[in-house]
Amino acid sequence: MSGVINGNQKCCGTCEYWTGTRKLNNVSEVKYEGPSAKCIGGGGNNTHVDAYGNCNQYKKWSKLQ
Ligand code: SF4
Repeated sequence: MSGVINGNQKCCGTCEYWTGTRKLNNVSEVKYEGPSAKCIGGGGNNTHVDAYGNCNQYKKWSKLQ
């Protein structure tokens, strides 16, 4: 499964701590692959989290504007 997420949406797929396969579609849009991947260093540390999950330790991915 893959998809596109607006960079302004606060969710794991646009978060600095998400380790899923993704790339920028453009400066404000993320294209990701796979429904879940590990969060490393954030609120879901060391667990698999869905690209559309979130938590209160969200930090915007540094590649996004
Ligand atoms: S669980 Fe929280 S810190 Fe981890 S990737 Fe998702 S929003 Fe980011």
